[in-house]
Amino acid sequence: MRIQQGDLRQLNVQFKDADPLSILKWSIKKLFPDLAILTSFQISGVVILDLIRQMGKDIPVYFIDTGYHFPETLQFRDEIIKKFNLNVISVKPKLSRDVFEQKYGKELYNSDPETCCSINKVEPQERIMKTSGYSNWLTGIRKDQSKSRAEMSVFMIDAHDNIRVHPLINWKWDDVWKYIKDNNLPYNSLYQFGYASIGCSPPACTAPGNWAHGDRSGRWVNFSKTECGLHYKLSADKNGNK
Ligand code: SF4
Repeated sequence: MRIQQGDLRQLNVQFKDADPLSILKWSIKKLFPDLAILTSFQISGVVILDLIRQMGKDIPVYFIDTGYHFPETLQFRDEIIKKFNLNVISVKPKLSRDVFEQKYGKELYNSDPETCCSINKVEPQERIMKTSGYSNWLTGIRKDQSKSRAEMSVFMIDAHDNIRVHPLINWKWDDVWKYIKDNNLPYNSLYQFGYASIGCSPPACTAPGNWAHGDRSGRWVNFSKTECGLHYKLSADKNGNK
């Protein structure tokens, strides 16, 4: 099945209050094998990977290796690949970190994080969306993460006419942690140090946040920026949101 822009409204009415399992079951039934996951292995991504694992489906997992990840994140990626027997495709920016820093300086993230994200995160994602051959993408975003994400829906269309599917959109931070704990799942060790949202390692990009609320307050603390660009365009183009 190929979801068209005109199908989105009906699907989003049907799944408005749906739980992750219902959304994933439908997605597997209707969209597999044209279905992939984009994740940075935060807790929401781990929940989706675990649910899919239980369904016995081998879905490709795409990870954007920006060159600036915490060592703990890369270590956790490797741990969960082994534990879940995942097929992970790590996609890097066109410029290695060394070459990037020769061209733009060592700390572009401190002066111009938009450009830094655009080169190291958004461009690799655009490349994946254009060349991977998959048109349906699972990601772990949730409404409770930020004001802009609160406007998002279960099914959304992106700039490349690919469909983003958000199985955890209606879950809250506590729901995700409950699932992780109840199922004894592993998680990035940085959560133990107060990080609520884990992106790139420079303190300007990821700092310990308001852990109790699970929000993104620890991201780009000195800037008005709240999104790296991987998701925000969804709310502004073809989905009728602003
Ligand atoms: S999160 Fe920070 S280091 Fe990573 S790409 Fe964006 S600005 Fe650069």
